[in-house]
Amino acid sequence: MPNAISKQQLQNHCDVLIVGAGPAGIAAALTLAATGKDVLVIDKAVFPRDKCCGDGLTTGALRILEMLGFDPDSVPNYQVCTDVWLRSPSGREIQLDLPNKNGDHASTTSQFAAIAPRIELDNALVQHARTRGVRIVESCAFVSVLSQTSHDITVATDLANEYKEITARFVVAADGMWSPVRKALGAAQSGYLGEWHAFRQYVSNVTGKANKRLYVWFEKDLLPGYAWSFPLPNGRANIGFGILRGSNYTVQEMKALWVELLSRPHIADALGKDATLEGRHTAWPIPARVTGAKLSSGRALFIGDAACAADTMTGEGIGQALLTGVLAGEAIIGSRDYDENTIAKKYAKKMKHEFFADHRQSKPEESVTRREEFRLVLQLLEEIDERDARVIRLRYGLEGKEPLTLKQIGHEVGLTRERVRQIEVEALRRLQQKITDERPLRFLRQMMQERTEEPRPTPPRIIPIERRDARTG
Ligand SMILES: Cc1cc2nc3c(=O)[nH]c(=O)nc-3n(C[C@H](O)[C@H](O)[C@H](O)COP(=O)(O)OP(=O)(O)OC[C@H]3O[C@@H](n4cnc5c(N)ncnc54)[C@H](O)[C@@H]3O)c2cc1C
Repeated sequence: MPNAISKQQLQNHCDVLIVGAGPAGIAAALTLAATGKDVLVIDKAVFPRDKCCGDGLTTGALRILEMLGFDPDSVPNYQVCTDVWLRSPSGREIQLDLPNKNGDHASTTSQFAAIAPRIELDNALVQHARTRGVRIVESCAFVSVLSQTSHDITVATDLANEYKEITARFVVAADGMWSPVRKALGAAQSGYLGEWHAFRQYVSNVTGKANKRLYVWFEKDLLPGYAWSFPLPNGRANIGFGILRGSNYTVQEMKALWVELLSRPHIADALGKDATLEGRHTAWPIPARVTGAKLSSGRALFIGDAACAADTMTGEGIGQALLTGVLAGEAIIGSRDYDENTIAKKYAKKMKHEFFADHRQSKPEESVTRREEFRLVLQLLEEIDERDARVIRLRYGLEGKEPLTLKQIGHEVGLTRERVRQIEVEALRRLQQKITDERPLRFLRQMMQERTEEPRPTPPRIIPIERRDARTG
């Protein structure tokens, strides 16, 4: 078995040592290996290993997986999702179709959301990297940094209880939220516990609607957090909830809350009366403040959760882990003779370009505004008449389709163009009345500015499932 590289076989030199074989580490390894770099990945775990996660693959994650040549068929319980069901805090449910709802989903290019159990996904990624020539050594834990020179870096590892030293020109730390490499380099912030904390459990015998539907439940007491149920094949689902640290509940209260959440009628109903919880629940922090994180230290770059790269609004981090891995790989490839300053600068520049615009929006004051916008949209959709809500959804493409003209909507809902226009203007007026802030919220300003028939309005983004397509923009 190629994964069982024996202790004797573990070479102690490589171009780039990657610590951690999760999505971040594998993306970096594939990027580097594609240009012929001698890459060695070590992971303390033995694959397949589980990772506490919702298993949701966003559009951004899917595009990068495609770019890395990953075949979703290598994940046995892979589930494509074609729509999303959102439930507002007061109980209104809306269904949002994702693009290509009724199309062919054979390749990831034609998919916009999917669920992939991490125990399978991460193992399949490891196997995929091996087929591309990446050496991956399992049961090999990074222990400490022994030395750094202007030429290389040497680390101590524990390979199945045996001491091994590895010297590399550069190290990429893809070792997750608690990043031992970051700690060893003195780059960890003491007392840092992550922005989000999330709980998840698998459930089988799901006979309710969650059997097929991807649910996001915006429970009033969890905001800005949320609960989810992500469907898997054969009547299973990944269910869980996440809270923002410092919100209504403490992490210590989450266990009791979990039991209570599962008994809430809409959640129990969605799962069905035969639903059976599998194994134990697990919980883990999610680091989501890439703009404040140190991205490099000496001859090491930090990526994925080790770079606190998860999304500040939703806590999603797989797509971000993959993207940071690709960017770190590119930064190393683009430098001459592994110059540490050049690599650090290139990586910081790429990260700034790809991430900071989004995260800057999430500085405390702006992040509050965005949360308010989102809450407002949910509230509005509840308060306006269902027909008016439909008109707005069709007009702004909130059902996952192209925005429609007034005339097209008229055909859809059986009203004249003029009546549709009146409904739109009235609905928008009522929406705007609700704004107490002097500055119009971005979302509404966009709607108000573009309410004439041509050009068609740009759809405002209200689904917290994916806010950016990481590679394709
Ligand atoms: C409950 C929950 C639900 C979530 N749901 C979603 C979701 O639906 N969608 C989404 O996109 N994101 C989700 N996330 C976030 C996502 O799981 C992470 O952001 C993502 O896994 C980060 O990937 P990574 O490769 O950086 O780190 P990881 O996946 O954590 O991989 C780190 C690797 O490093 C290895 N390692 C650690 N220490 C050492 C060491 N000393 N030596 C060697 N190896 C080491 C570990 O064994 C591990 O394999 C969720 C998180 C949680 C907690």
